[in-house]
Amino acid sequence: MNGSVRVRFAPSPTGPLHIGGARSALFNWLLAKKYGGRMIVRIEDTDLERSSRESEENILDALLWLGLDWDEGIRKGGEHGPYRQTERLNIYTEAAQKLLSEGQAYYCYCTEEELEAERQACLARGEMPRYLGRCRDLSEEDRRKFEAEGRKKTIRFRVPDNENIVVEDLVRGNVVFESNGIGDFVIVKSDGIPTYNFAVVLDDALMGITHVVRGEEHLSNTPRQLMLYRALNFTPPAFAHVSLILGRDRSKMSKRHGATSIEAYKGQGYLPEALVNFLVLLGWSPVGEEEIFTLEELVEQFSLDRVAKNPAVFDIDKLNWLNGHYIRKSSVERITDLAIPFLRQAGFVTGDVTPETYDWLKMVVASVQEYLAFVAQITDHVGIYFDDRVTMENDEALGVLKDESVPAVMAAFRQKIAEMEEITPENTRDMLKALTKQLKLGGKKVYMPIRVALTGKTHGPELYYIIPILGRDRILVRLAQTVEGQA
Ligand code: GLU
Repeated sequence: MNGSVRVRFAPSPTGPLHIGGARSALFNWLLAKKYGGRMIVRIEDTDLERSSRESEENILDALLWLGLDWDEGIRKGGEHGPYRQTERLNIYTEAAQKLLSEGQAYYCYCTEEELEAERQACLARGEMPRYLGRCRDLSEEDRRKFEAEGRKKTIRFRVPDNENIVVEDLVRGNVVFESNGIGDFVIVKSDGIPTYNFAVVLDDALMGITHVVRGEEHLSNTPRQLMLYRALNFTPPAFAHVSLILGRDRSKMSKRHGATSIEAYKGQGYLPEALVNFLVLLGWSPVGEEEIFTLEELVEQFSLDRVAKNPAVFDIDKLNWLNGHYIRKSSVERITDLAIPFLRQAGFVTGDVTPETYDWLKMVVASVQEYLAFVAQITDHVGIYFDDRVTMENDEALGVLKDESVPAVMAAFRQKIAEMEEITPENTRDMLKALTKQLKLGGKKVYMPIRVALTGKTHGPELYYIIPILGRDRILVRLAQTVEGQA
């Protein structure tokens, strides 16, 4: 398979890139990389009403953000272009004409009403609705009559009778479909635009695609596509249909289960490497216990034979766990840059971020980085740094400050703060150690009252961050409110 592999991602630009699409793109990308093949991106925009350039841009930008670039296709060019289906209409028209002339396709003049009546009749008989072939063998006279009436016409593919169509799926094994259940289907609509099944076959064949990896929702299209490959004298690619993604209640993943678009996750401060890691585990399972993978490691390890037939369940806790892992591994600068827009939105940051503010924000981020599942959560953790009016969170906090040792602790703490030339996390750590030693009270009796006096809370970031983040003046302002009477 080496070298000759050509895979593609062929999104319909009718909305943003979704989790399922991103997973298909990733699996294809991994195959291309693994086998030194090529990844092609093609835009399937034959649904004129729902397609937009905006969605196209969104999808392509999201792919690049995930790190999934491509070798050939839209934005890139290549020998098999154009890579947008609406720019390839002549190809489809020509192929449809050929099928018409060979009798493998025919014009259908049925009206919407007629088709609907047929559908209802099928349902009433308890059969799968399908086209029953009313226009299959029209006489010349009938045709002329319909043309004279000015009826609109579609082009239908003549589905062979009494055949078993076998999809040899790399994930699902052989899946057999009876041609009789399929009904002649439209390949070109009355406005001259090809349907998905027709365009996809011509494009995959002409673009030399060797492997089609896509969502299970397309499995039932595949027998139609296989018949078209044969009718058009093309060799079909290998197919792999990856399972649906379900929500935790085991119904098909939808907005009800949480955000479904990649941009929504990006917008909440999820990292691309976490999403990639999460997406690959939606259907593929690694050989060992390890679940954390870089793209490079995945290129090594990924294979279609470890892609499961059963549905994948979207587990947001898992994504949060992975994302938290990658946030902790990231540089504080990276997370600071991602955090600033959220801090701004919450009103914590206003105006320009000067180099001094940036350095200060870095400390703020460093103090909470380990608690974040996604960067947007930062605003829940950093309120203590922005408002010098300290209110006691609860009775427990109030109680901490009532301990008889508090006045001595606070006096010693003030003294230390006054003596420090520069207040950094490093020397604050040393100062706190010295303070504990000096007071001979044990860590908790020292740290807890200082924490509560500065923040009003019994939990929060490390004191050796809180102290330098607040700085001497603001520390004094806060102590004056919370423990002044006792100092
Ligand atoms: N345009 C189709 C979709 O977005 C592509 C299906 C395929 O990969 O063949 O669902």
